[in-house]
Amino acid sequence: MSTYVFGHTTPDSDSIVGAISLSYLKNQLGEDTIPSRQGEINPETTFILNKFGYEKPLLKTNYADENVYLIDFMESSQSPEDIAKATILGIVDHHKLGDLKTTTPLEMWVRPVGCSNTIVKQMFDYYNIEIPKDLAGMMMCAILSDTVIFKSPTCTKEDTKACKELAKIAGIEDYKAVGMEMFIVKSDVLNATKRELVLRDFKDFNMGGEKIGIGQLEVVDLNVFDTMKEELFEAMKELKIEGERHSVLLLLTDIMLEGSQLLVLSDDIEKVENAFEVKLENQQAWLAKVMSRKKQIIPFLEKQF
Ligand code: MG
Ligand code: MG
Ligand code: MG
Repeated sequence: MSTYVFGHTTPDSDSIVGAISLSYLKNQLGEDTIPSRQGEINPETTFILNKFGYEKPLLKTNYADENVYLIDFMESSQSPEDIAKATILGIVDHHKLGDLKTTTPLEMWVRPVGCSNTIVKQMFDYYNIEIPKDLAGMMMCAILSDTVIFKSPTCTKEDTKACKELAKIAGIEDYKAVGMEMFIVKSDVLNATKRELVLRDFKDFNMGGEKIGIGQLEVVDLNVFDTMKEELFEAMKELKIEGERHSVLLLLTDIMLEGSQLLVLSDDIEKVENAFEVKLENQQAWLAKVMSRKKQIIPFLEKQF
């Protein structure tokens, strides 16, 4: 029986590349694994797969009675619905400790670094397994994506080190230029519906029993959103109602200005204002220096619930 390796719902580049890289490593170690994914691939990840000649992992949303490795998440809210019926053999992640439970002992590689693929790179080194050139290129891109080309406060020395070593294996000299190319692809928000944009990098969290959905769009120029704020709010409102969410937040992150415009729909606006010590105007606020949902949004919001 094959073991499935997959990342979170609404997969990002780290989740998709991580499924591929971790599955490759495990197979080299003699296991029988298949990379899979819980949802559609975003334009940035499509760019990465095309650039390095890889296929999308298998789309699979049910995992009852399967053996699985999880990468880039460990929250039930980002898991398949039947995760409790799967056997989790291991977790490779760089997020806060989640609420998943296991019935058997498991392998865990969890580190406070900027990207899961940094950890996978360390696993390759640990087992002394060679990384194929194109896989190294994809892992490099995943690190550049998650760390916003090293600008995110989540980025550590281990990430920059892993990224540089992967670039070398991939034969890429100017890896930051590849990162910029990737973020320009990511900045194309005109060819998608507003709902698709809000959902592009969207995660649900359980905070004190309330469901909070937080989306993030990272672009090279925030002005692209100027004419679409109202429609973004409409899409957020839809998601708030149909998902019975207490709050829906959307972070519009400008990677050049290194800050985020926060859009908020909430049953308790004050909690959000208190979390970030701001007054919302038209349900919005500019959060200077805020680039990371994981490090600069979730912990502060969680304290309010
Ligand atoms: Mg991720
Ligand atoms: Mg990640
Ligand atoms: Mg991210």
